[in-house]
Amino acid sequence: MNAKYDLILFDIDGTLVITKGAGRESTRRTMVELVGDDCGALDHPFGGKTDWQILTELMAKRGIAAEEASRQVARYASSMERHLSAIIADYPVLICAGARESVDWLRERGEPLIGVLTGNVQPTAPLKLRAGGFDPAWFKVGAFGSEAHSRDDLPPLAMARAEAVLGYRLDPRRVMVVGDTPADVQCAKANGCVAVAVMTGFSTREELQRSAPDYLLDDLHGLRDLID
Ligand SMILES: [Mg+2]
Repeated sequence: MNAKYDLILFDIDGTLVITKGAGRESTRRTMVELVGDDCGALDHPFGGKTDWQILTELMAKRGIAAEEASRQVARYASSMERHLSAIIADYPVLICAGARESVDWLRERGEPLIGVLTGNVQPTAPLKLRAGGFDPAWFKVGAFGSEAHSRDDLPPLAMARAEAVLGYRLDPRRVMVVGDTPADVQCAKANGCVAVAVMTGFSTREELQRSAPDYLLDDLHGLRDLID
């Protein structure tokens, strides 16, 4: 058992990879398909939100009730998968600084267990990971933005899946949640997990400082020192 942590959960966008507009364009195309117009998808703030939440907010702009948006999550997810897989190769996807090194180091180490905790719907998460050169199989558990409207509800899903792999109950204080927005920090703190914020994504230092993470890193090169 690792001295400090049993599970590290990585956000994807802005933490491991930046898809340089591919995700947003997929959302736009998906909204056109579902609603008949893009619902302002190109300008809407996405950072830290679950796709379920984004779908609800975009549909609300066209007067569509939240209950109806919730009923459309599965359709949204399959449409997103189709659009993102069609276009992602055309975008200059970036790997966030230190992300590959950290994941490789954790894989070699063999512990703690690593997983993803992302606002992406389940089918698009592996597309984004692969576009950044990460094998989705490296991440042994996941919780996704098609499973809950609020990000705060995702850590318990990932932890339950990790417990099934590890065979013991997890103490949330031994679970690290790594992400690039105040919403990542918030979901960690709401569940008693350790919040690590990184500045490689979509939030400023000031925004992240205000969210009061346990640790604030310039990039993931600093992760190793928190675990060793
Ligand atoms: Mg993110």
